[in-house]
Amino acid sequence: MKSKYDVVVIGAGCIGASVAAHLGELGCNNVLVLEKEKMIGTGSTAKCAGGVRAQFSTPVNIHMSHYSIQEFEKLDKEFGIQFVQCGYLFVVKTEEQKNRYLKNMEMQKSYGVDVRFVTKDEIAKLAPNYGLDNVLGGTFGPKDGLIDPYMLVDCYFKKSRKMNIEFETEAPCTGFKSSDGKVTHVVTPKGEIACDYVVNAAGPFAQTIGNMLDLKIPIEPLRRMITTTGDLDFITDKFPMVVDVTSGMYMHKEGNGLLIGLANSDEKPGFDESIDNNFLDTMLMTALEVMPYLENAEIKTKYPGTWAGLYETTPDHHSILGQVPPYKNFLLAGGFSGHGLMHAPAAGRAIAELVVKGKCEFMDIHPLRFARFAENDLVHEKNVI
Ligand SMILES: Cc1cc2nc3c(=O)[nH]c(=O)nc-3n(C[C@H](O)[C@H](O)[C@H](O)COP(=O)(O)OP(=O)(O)OC[C@H]3O[C@@H](n4cnc5c(N)ncnc54)[C@H](O)[C@@H]3O)c2cc1C
Repeated sequence: MKSKYDVVVIGAGCIGASVAAHLGELGCNNVLVLEKEKMIGTGSTAKCAGGVRAQFSTPVNIHMSHYSIQEFEKLDKEFGIQFVQCGYLFVVKTEEQKNRYLKNMEMQKSYGVDVRFVTKDEIAKLAPNYGLDNVLGGTFGPKDGLIDPYMLVDCYFKKSRKMNIEFETEAPCTGFKSSDGKVTHVVTPKGEIACDYVVNAAGPFAQTIGNMLDLKIPIEPLRRMITTTGDLDFITDKFPMVVDVTSGMYMHKEGNGLLIGLANSDEKPGFDESIDNNFLDTMLMTALEVMPYLENAEIKTKYPGTWAGLYETTPDHHSILGQVPPYKNFLLAGGFSGHGLMHAPAAGRAIAELVVKGKCEFMDIHPLRFARFAENDLVHEKNVI
């Protein structure tokens, strides 16, 4: 670790690693990524379900996904990040849901997303044994799918290291020094590091990092749980990510079984990552409602078959990308609200362009600016899982 870098990135999850690799690609390789843990990629990224989709309700999230999916296709060819385009299937059960998802679908199509409405019979073929009671159909995006979060971090790490970008583990950022509206140093137990730019990519800890500069960053950690089943003989690589719009329960292939996730709407912000057994019961009851076939399945109710991790949630369920006033050189890439893995390529490129070119050229990230909260100019993402 040197005493001066052009850019210090705080956090080596999928976002920090993507920012680093994209900076290197733009010719900025005097970069240090600080990670508080012993290993990179062990935060929210490691807890994530791996889902990738373009089926969102706002243009900016669709653009973030659209760009990222194209990147995943390339990275898969080059690094084998295990991008499986099995599709996302949102299953609707009421006329209101159907109309809402049809409307979303038309908007998504207008931005070039490959998505179509599927009937109950098609759902039976796409997702064998999924419960079809009251099902009216669904929207299916065949280019959506799954990636391996570890492989993505590893691929950005390898790309970065090839460009001599440094990663320092067991190196928490504990504070900053600033002067004249600029952060001048990042403070760590291993020493103070002078830098031209700082990128806060600390995931659910983004607010904690902001507090060190007396900034109020509206990103809250929220526990989310996942459980998995034993082997199921009907599961193939083509089994899509299926989302029950009514309950929000999602399931996709994991090994030879299923991974099942559900958000607890009563969860309070906090850093608790323990398994909540009461809510696990709710998850299992819901799973039986959406897929009664699971009555006979083995459910792995203990860690590592069941686990909890943290979403980094903003009030409008959109990420925050870019400068955080009043500091001219303090950038934030956080608050992905459950979409950080799938948006890592676009987020990394956006931050790298802001640093190197002074503006983000490849897409319009204005809706994701930090100032939207103070300006009360929020557009809410409705398609949140
Ligand atoms: C159960 C669950 C399911 C999910 N499913 C999906 C999904 O299907 N698709 C999807 O796109 N997203 C999903 N997500 C969200 C996704 O995991 C996150 O949005 C994404 O991983 C955020 O990446 P990150 O790099 O910002 O955060 P992290 O991976 O948490 O990385 C931040 C890093 O910063 C480090 N750090 C924190 N503080 C400091 C400090 N002071 N100094 C140095 N380092 C520090 C942490 O140790 C950590 O390694 C899911 C999340 C959960 C919990």
